[in-house]
Amino acid sequence: MVEATLFFSPHQDDETLSMGNAIIEHVEKSDTHVILCTDGSKSIIRKVLDDGGTCSYHIKDIHKYSLPEEEFSKDRDEEFKDSCKEMGVKESNIHIEENRAHDGELSKEKAKEIILKYLDKYPNARVKTVTPYKASGIHEDHRALGEAALELYEEGKIKDLRFYVEPYDYNDFTKVNPNVEVWKVLNSQENKLLNAMNAYKKWNPENGQYAIGYHSVKSHFDELKENKIQYVHTP
Ligand SMILES: [Zn+2]
Ligand SMILES: [Zn+2]
Repeated sequence: MVEATLFFSPHQDDETLSMGNAIIEHVEKSDTHVILCTDGSKSIIRKVLDDGGTCSYHIKDIHKYSLPEEEFSKDRDEEFKDSCKEMGVKESNIHIEENRAHDGELSKEKAKEIILKYLDKYPNARVKTVTPYKASGIHEDHRALGEAALELYEEGKIKDLRFYVEPYDYNDFTKVNPNVEVWKVLNSQENKLLNAMNAYKKWNPENGQYAIGYHSVKSHFDELKENKIQYVHTP
């Protein structure tokens, strides 16, 4: 039986920005799943798209797109699914968790429930998620997911756990956690990562594509494109 690897992502785009290289690598050698744990509905970009203005990404296009939260969230899900596909994840292994939290409301308890649900299906799977160790400004959903995984590891329910440090937080992280040994995952298939990032840059409002990921964290995408590295540590 092929081993399973489970990547838990707090929001649409974290899987690519913080774990993309690792996902691409693991798809090659294991039954790799990516699980989205929140709906991403609270992003400021929903208002940015609606404000009748422009942004640094769209010099000419005027934003005039009034999206209800639910639709906005679905459009983000499409970006997430496209991005996972570009990294080689099988469609049936891309999970928009039905029990996911509203953006900003992921508790450690809920995160544990979600992780356990997938561990139940894929016992002894390797688990990968974002680090819970506090770097300044850590997003609470990220912390909840990381802490949930850490507790399950300490309880013996996760056998093999790796944490990823958001590349844009890496400098802060090493300042705050100088004793945590972090190593790099190097990019092995550049095109896959670039295509995965491009899934968050698609601008075609007629078809419900609003480049939400890119609007949201343009600098993170631009930096990852320049320096295609990921940072990982053990619990
Ligand atoms: Zn996030
Ligand atoms: Zn724009």
